[in-house]
Amino acid sequence: MTDFRAIRIDKDEHGQHANYVVMRERDLMEGDVDVDVAFSAINYKDGLAVTGKGPVVRRFPMIPGVDLAGRVTRSAHPDFASGDIVVATACGLGEAHYGGFAEKARLAGDWLAKLPPPLTPARAMAVGTAGLTALFCVLALERHGARPEDGLAVVTGATGGVGSFAVALLAKAGWRVVAVTGQASQDAYLKRLGASEIIGRDELSALGKPLQKQRFAVGVDTVGGVTLANLLAQTRFDGAVAACGNVGGMELPANVAPFILRGVSLLGVESVRPRIGLRRAAWTRIAQDLDPSTIDAMSEIIPFDAALDRARSIVGGAIRGRVVIDMGRHLPL
Ligand code: NDP
Repeated sequence: MTDFRAIRIDKDEHGQHANYVVMRERDLMEGDVDVDVAFSAINYKDGLAVTGKGPVVRRFPMIPGVDLAGRVTRSAHPDFASGDIVVATACGLGEAHYGGFAEKARLAGDWLAKLPPPLTPARAMAVGTAGLTALFCVLALERHGARPEDGLAVVTGATGGVGSFAVALLAKAGWRVVAVTGQASQDAYLKRLGASEIIGRDELSALGKPLQKQRFAVGVDTVGGVTLANLLAQTRFDGAVAACGNVGGMELPANVAPFILRGVSLLGVESVRPRIGLRRAAWTRIAQDLDPSTIDAMSEIIPFDAALDRARSIVGGAIRGRVVIDMGRHLPL
């Protein structure tokens, strides 16, 4: 197939626009591996890219989609051959390099991992950047030396993609997890993922004192802003918060009191750079730690035709868990 369908973001004097288009294989960017994309997924960043609400796209035109999984059709990379089933997340996909919202991708083999069983391409996309980011947060807390005996773990933005995986991975590692959500109706969902307690987003959304009652041993924060400031203020002595998101704002209206008076650590987490060794190890741990039914409980699958509308809606917080895009390639789910 030389023609393929894609969602493309173009920019002109009126601003940027995302539309379905037909492209030619020769339009693809450089790379040593070609992939027939079977599944992609919608991340918050994709929502910012297609709506133009955040400066995600670094060159135009751009195919959004930070995650993709599919079958290799050509490889000049020593680790991959035609027919391999592979996954790629982040590494600039959908920002600086054409991403997963297309039937075809050409990319660097150094960004790819083979799928460890029992992960299928669809389940790998249910995990995607969100799941890897959640795992990187858990790994940061483990590197800090935190253990479930230390007390409670808290996760903000808990029904979102990163938050859902953080709840499930921390619960699997033995933590009692407090899930923070703006959606009171999602108690059953969060308990199914392993949350022991659920609290409303409002409890952390008003700016409080720099030091508050100590509640949590560790935290995974996807929200930023006042919520992160309150988490730091409520973290116990020698505890840590892994911060990866900003859905509530880029500011951090906090002071140094939690750091210098309670020894609290703020651990920054980013999952964009390739670091392929870490990524391949992360996929193996995810395949071990998350059973397929847990992944299925937090994801839904939609056709490619519905992807653009759904990507636009994620920015308003209208998506629970993970939305996987089926490109119609008939690979095993
Ligand atoms: P989602 O939209 O899936 O989840 C975000 C969740 O945050 C929502 O479901 C909602 O959960 C909560 N939320 C939404 N708006 C607000 C608000 N105004 N105040 C407080 N809570 C809110 O996004 P993702 O899980 O894909 O991403 C989460 C964050 O992590 C984003 O900021 C994203 O950019 C970032 N990220 C960072 C990465 C990195 O490398 N550092 C990689 C991947 C993501 P609920 O209703 O349960 O409260």
